[in-house]
Amino acid sequence: MSKKIRVRFAPSPTGYLHMGSLRTVLYNYLFAKHNDGDFILRIEDTDKARYVEGSIENLVKILDFMGLEYSEGVFVDQDNKTFQKGDFGPYIQSQRLDIYQKYVDELIKKDYAYYCFCSQERLEEMRKKQQLQKLAPMYDGKCRELSKDEVQKLLYEKTPYVVRLKVPKEGFTEFEDLIYKKIKIENKTIDDQVLMKSDGFPTYHLASVVDDHLMNISHVIRGEEWLPSTPKHILLYKAFGWKTPEFTHLPLLLNPDKSKLSKRQGDVAVEDYLKKGYLPKALLNFILLLGWNPKTEEEIFSLEEMIKRFDLSGVNKTGAIFNTEKLDWLNGLYVRKMDISKLTKLCMPYLIKANLIKEISTNKYKILNTGEEIDFEYLKKVVLLEQERMKKLSEIGESVKFIFIDKLEYEKELLIWKKMSFEEVKNNLELAYQELEKLNEKDFTKNNLEKVLRDLMEQEGINTGKLLWPLRVALTGLKGSPGPFEVAAVLGKEKVLKRIKKGIELVK
Ligand code: GLU
Repeated sequence: MSKKIRVRFAPSPTGYLHMGSLRTVLYNYLFAKHNDGDFILRIEDTDKARYVEGSIENLVKILDFMGLEYSEGVFVDQDNKTFQKGDFGPYIQSQRLDIYQKYVDELIKKDYAYYCFCSQERLEEMRKKQQLQKLAPMYDGKCRELSKDEVQKLLYEKTPYVVRLKVPKEGFTEFEDLIYKKIKIENKTIDDQVLMKSDGFPTYHLASVVDDHLMNISHVIRGEEWLPSTPKHILLYKAFGWKTPEFTHLPLLLNPDKSKLSKRQGDVAVEDYLKKGYLPKALLNFILLLGWNPKTEEEIFSLEEMIKRFDLSGVNKTGAIFNTEKLDWLNGLYVRKMDISKLTKLCMPYLIKANLIKEISTNKYKILNTGEEIDFEYLKKVVLLEQERMKKLSEIGESVKFIFIDKLEYEKELLIWKKMSFEEVKNNLELAYQELEKLNEKDFTKNNLEKVLRDLMEQEGINTGKLLWPLRVALTGLKGSPGPFEVAAVLGKEKVLKRIKKGIELVK
């Protein structure tokens, strides 16, 4: 039987979750699920300076919200406390320091690693010189040459030290990446990487290799930025005499100008996208296609479909352009497919944040501008107006504002369709007013309004645009909005007549 597939997502708790990391999670998740494997969340918190309080909890919540479940590692309970589950723990690296110490000692004993007592000042100076000579920054190996006695003496004197990997001076390090294929690096270009820092904490390199081995990780799937570190990891596996996992490095995420996706050019945190009202399913669908190719023209994938189809051989080698227009398009698609009650619930915080409504009790809301009371059913009708057009939920506040405010502000020129005169606008609005005035409140349904107004236009021989455009503008005050029939149905008779009257007043 082949070895069980075990993969891990191993973030450092340094703040927010980058979109690139979300892709790493997704691909690991899909690969595990597709192969009936295990997916593990391991926290790599060995860089104390970069630790940000609360980021583990935040991260776990996002993964949960996105529906990307894992079977082992670090979880968060109802009281927002972390706990761990699985046979290979602890899964938080700062709780594994004794393990790393043991393995560092082993490397030193086998002469694969050495103590380095160089001071920060010396290292700084060395770096400067190398910079001036345009050389790659590298440790010059001074402490490699220390005799056993010298080392003992310095240790005895409690001189601060780090432990470095003793990279062979000759030969090559080779490995096979599933995407980048064979990679062969000259050992003399590999730095004597620090494995253990002076504070007794391991570096990422040592800790991740030790943990990937001890946690039986079969496949390491991570961002391309870690590719240059992999030769060091291979040397460590060799030094320990351990079998290496399979490596897959995922292509970079790029801005449309092909630069690396960075905070400077826009939002990169998953949290920011969720706040803007992108739906988890749409985000995952978008992220899936950033680097994975279904080899067909298909673009829409549910999570189940992704699990069925995902395969590492579909991962591209070239950087993936992070195109927010495509994300908007995809999100719009998911919004349109959504059940209206569910969508309305999701829109609610945005309506409240935009100061349009306030919740006063269960199923009771107050329109802040007019003081009217409305219920959830009414809000559903309002949201339905925008469901077809909405790209992200955060747009709802601005786009339905016209429903909730009493006095619309717009220029009278906006009422003009093509080359109409104000006189014509006035006449047509008056005709609509007279016709709608005759109706009962209960006849203010979209279909009925459409029928009544179309009949009117036919009888009077009025061109559709010449009546419907001024009417729509009078009802919304906007250049672009849903059509006049559905808007009128949501507004109701009283408001419709009031707004048409205002339009007539404007062009008088
Ligand atoms: N802790 C690393 C990070 O923050 C993990 C890299 C890896 O997956 O090996 O991304």
